[in-house]
Amino acid sequence: MKPIIKLTALTLSSLICFNSYADNSKEESKQPNPVAIVIHGGAGTIIKKNMTPELEKAYKTALKDALVAGYHVLINQGSSTEAIKKSIVMMEDSPLFNAGKGAVFTHEGKNSLDASIMVGNDLTAGAIAGVETVKNPILLADKVRTDSVHVMMSGKGAEQFAKSQDLEFVDPKYFFTQRRWDSLQNALKHEKEQASYTPLLPTDEANNYKFGTVGAVALDSNGVIAAATSTGGMTNKRYGRIGDSPIIGAGTYANQTCGISATGHGEYFIRAAVTYDICALMQYKEMPISEAADLVIHNKLKKMGGDGGVIGLDHQGNIMMSFNTHGMYRASVDTAGNVTIKLYKD
Ligand code: ASP
Repeated sequence: MKPIIKLTALTLSSLICFNSYADNSKEESKQPNPVAIVIHGGAGTIIKKNMTPELEKAYKTALKDALVAGYHVLINQGSSTEAIKKSIVMMEDSPLFNAGKGAVFTHEGKNSLDASIMVGNDLTAGAIAGVETVKNPILLADKVRTDSVHVMMSGKGAEQFAKSQDLEFVDPKYFFTQRRWDSLQNALKHEKEQASYTPLLPTDEANNYKFGTVGAVALDSNGVIAAATSTGGMTNKRYGRIGDSPIIGAGTYANQTCGISATGHGEYFIRAAVTYDICALMQYKEMPISEAADLVIHNKLKKMGGDGGVIGLDHQGNIMMSFNTHGMYRASVDTAGNVTIKLYKD
């Protein structure tokens, strides 16, 4: 994949905040391991003709800011867990993505948020589903990982646990955005015409805002991989529907070999155990990360009828971004400092 910008890690670090490499020079013999980060802002019908130059610029800027925030943590020798949380919080706070503020609406006109996080060296994981008042769901998922004996919590119980943690709460109205509301109205109209329950997928034409789940995967200077995903799920979802994003092994997975975050039609990603499957192909069959991801996304998932994509990296920092949709919001900094920010297929 051709990077659209090429910077050395040092140049990028100096753009962000010049200090970590300067500090490291004092410890001559102890060079940190190379770091890398990759993020996504959802996959779907992302085509140039549907974009205005302003919107394209807004997405690129939002991706760059989230990427730089995470990379900044890594080059200051912070952990991959802190780096991905930083990137994801920025995307959750942006109304452009289907996570946190800007999340899609349920059938009942609410925002019901799902998130998960996993750390590769110790296989710790945390996930939450159906949360409505926690400003940054990814931070609650991480609290489940670090401060509870469970891996996954949902609904009222998750909110109750959240109250015992140092987290920010908001009025549910905080998550409202007009275009997500309009998408729900479209979906409800569509549903009436079809006379059947029609949750809208990121790829559905009737969904005038078709994408936006967010995810991040990073490798830190200690060689630890972490992966995370956060979403509002599908427009017009009901019956407490939960997609793949908060499910470890489906929407998010990390071990010592790789870390993966997914986006797409959750029902397929759950049944194909997408993120674990990619890591398993790498671990047991020694497949390179891009080959393993392409096999799952373009072959296995496509044959089942599932649309979407994945991002990830391996323990050497090799970056992968694979999708079978028209586009995927994605950005990365590799171990050599090459920066990629892309929206469309090419
Ligand atoms: N995977 C998410 C879900 O099914 C949606 C998305 O990634 O756009 O809930």
